[in-house]
Amino acid sequence: MTESFLLIVEDELEIAELIDFHANRDGYETKIVHSGRTALEVISQDQPDLMILDLMLPDVDGLEVLRRVRRLEKGNDTPILIVSAKGDESDVVAGIELGADDYVTKPFSPRILMARIRNILRRRNPEIDAGKNDPDRFSLCGGNLVIDPGRHVVTLHGDQIELTLTEFGMLQYLAARPGFVRTREQIISAVHGRSTVLSSRTVDVHVTALRRKLGEFGDRIETVRGVGYRFAEASERVIDD
Ligand code: CA
Repeated sequence: MTESFLLIVEDELEIAELIDFHANRDGYETKIVHSGRTALEVISQDQPDLMILDLMLPDVDGLEVLRRVRRLEKGNDTPILIVSAKGDESDVVAGIELGADDYVTKPFSPRILMARIRNILRRRNPEIDAGKNDPDRFSLCGGNLVIDPGRHVVTLHGDQIELTLTEFGMLQYLAARPGFVRTREQIISAVHGRSTVLSSRTVDVHVTALRRKLGEFGDRIETVRGVGYRFAEASERVIDD
């Protein structure tokens, strides 16, 4: 297997070098660029396996880079991990809605950053989508939780549980991509389409009900403070210590 190639987009030299050091130590190939403009040039040429993107950049800011990357013909599906300043929750939410895979806030622990990178690369690995041959049905939590969208049925330890349409839609949406953070806005549009009357506040209420119905696996639906929700992967917790 060839080493994964990471593009580090960061204008602060010390932080760029810190990321670079840890990435190299973990066996990744890296390239550092210091501006959004250069990042956009490099990404279509070099096709990195993952981009670590600082949001505060001198010329083209990180969110704009993200927006433009997703519109590229080549490289538009590059996994992106955003790095934001602490307290910039609205930027993180915007970033995830623009298609970022995950985020860390400064100051971050290099160990956590590297764990996030590994998780993204692992999730993008085809084996994660092993259920693709049977797209209608997927199981989680060691096979104890089975979601069958075709029949609109969820079973917990083999017993069917009663979910409302909204709860079912939310569970299906979150659980389809374990580990991915989804904002309330994304959940709303996934569940109800654009003409929604579901508010952010109602999302929280539905999540509470859903957690209760999922029993011991209810806490798999994690609140990501200030951002939204995700369906936790059991293995991710071990790595993210
Ligand atoms: Ca910066």
